[in-house]
Amino acid sequence: MERYFSPQLASLHDLCRQVVEAKVAPMAAQVDAQCLWPAHSMKALAEAGLMGLQAPASVGGHGQGLLALAAMTELIARACPSSALCFGMHCVGTAVIAAKATEHHSERYLRPIAEGRHITTLSLSETGSGTHFYLPATRLAEQGDWFIVNGEKQFVTNGSHADSYVMSVAASAPQEAGAGDFSCLVVDADTPGLQWQPAWAGFGMRGNSSRGVRVDQARVPRRNLLGEHGDQLWYVFEVIAPFFLMAMAGTYLGIAAAAVEATGLHLRTRRYGHSGEALADIDTLQARYAAMWITVEKTRGLVREAAVRGDGGHPEALPYILACKADAADAAVQVTNEAMTLCGGAAYRENSRISQMLRDARASHVMAPTTDLLKLWLGRALLGAPLL
Ligand SMILES: Cc1cc2nc3c(=O)[nH]c(=O)nc-3n(C[C@H](O)[C@H](O)[C@H](O)COP(=O)(O)OP(=O)(O)OC[C@H]3O[C@@H](n4cnc5c(N)ncnc54)[C@H](O)[C@@H]3O)c2cc1C
Repeated sequence: MERYFSPQLASLHDLCRQVVEAKVAPMAAQVDAQCLWPAHSMKALAEAGLMGLQAPASVGGHGQGLLALAAMTELIARACPSSALCFGMHCVGTAVIAAKATEHHSERYLRPIAEGRHITTLSLSETGSGTHFYLPATRLAEQGDWFIVNGEKQFVTNGSHADSYVMSVAASAPQEAGAGDFSCLVVDADTPGLQWQPAWAGFGMRGNSSRGVRVDQARVPRRNLLGEHGDQLWYVFEVIAPFFLMAMAGTYLGIAAAAVEATGLHLRTRRYGHSGEALADIDTLQARYAAMWITVEKTRGLVREAAVRGDGGHPEALPYILACKADAADAAVQVTNEAMTLCGGAAYRENSRISQMLRDARASHVMAPTTDLLKLWLGRALLGAPLL
């Protein structure tokens, strides 16, 4: 059992491993080749009772925190990064709903999530603000017990497949809006006015259905607002950022760990006909492989430390949480790139497993908060300057 895992987390982790081996891994190549949204993975995780990882125990969920999210996404990503991203964003959406859930939020969303009957996801990004996800231009207007929502979102993981979308909207008029000035609403998938943009076909993460959606005069019940006006910066830094960063750190760590494993297998099994020598017998490759392993283990240490600090409410959790996604992104890109060299022509084949890992890993630097932005925020946090 991992040093940091509670007995409950250890048994959830074992269960997740079984699901990954039996249902997720066998379809991974097809997910990538066909840009297939991994319905089979989500169904298997639901049947195992894992979709309620972040839902509170009061509605039948597991009530787990950041450590569980990082550990599960790592495990799933080792086999199928797109499945990890889809599961991870569902968990982040769940955590955002759970943070200040009303009775309505609990019964309408969290209980079905815990029962594996409802998939949610996070819809923050917009073309207009790009990586600056905390500056939405999507607006809401109040109309009695309803909000009328208008705007456009991009890159919605699980887009068009989820049952609900945790969507950010600006709370004030455009000229008044400042950093982090937004509200979060839960928007049901069947809300009239949601127009999905073309299907996703990315360079990597090809199964995550990262689609855009136009929101045109969508009527959302007022009771679907999460928290109170004014708590929104609290949401950004206490819930959205930690859970999102941890889901991403786990996913990219998983890709890096899988690349080390696949490279080790190749180095041990590839032998030259003329000498009988395996690649694993060559000094230079031994040292380069060691460096890959060190990179992954250092990253895992940082991710675990960040998660444990976050779950424990440690006063200095934030720098670790900011650092761990940036570091996992660097590690994933570096290690998969190195795997491509060490595994030679076998890896360079079209759609080899290593080439898929390299493509999937590249999403890490693009997904907000991007690596550059995270390092900027980390520097500010360490120097005592305001983040935004
Ligand atoms: C596979 C995938 C899945 C995604 N899933 C989701 C999702 O589920 N929900 C969601 O809301 N979003 C999601 N996104 C969106 C993602 O989080 C980003 O918001 C989006 O990719 C930003 O893209 P952009 O092209 O607009 O970036 P741009 O804003 O154009 O940025 C381009 C580059 O400039 C850099 N840059 C910009 N400003 C600065 C600055 N001030 N300092 C330093 N560097 C800067 C950025 O870091 C980036 O590297 C996903 C994206 C991908 C690729």
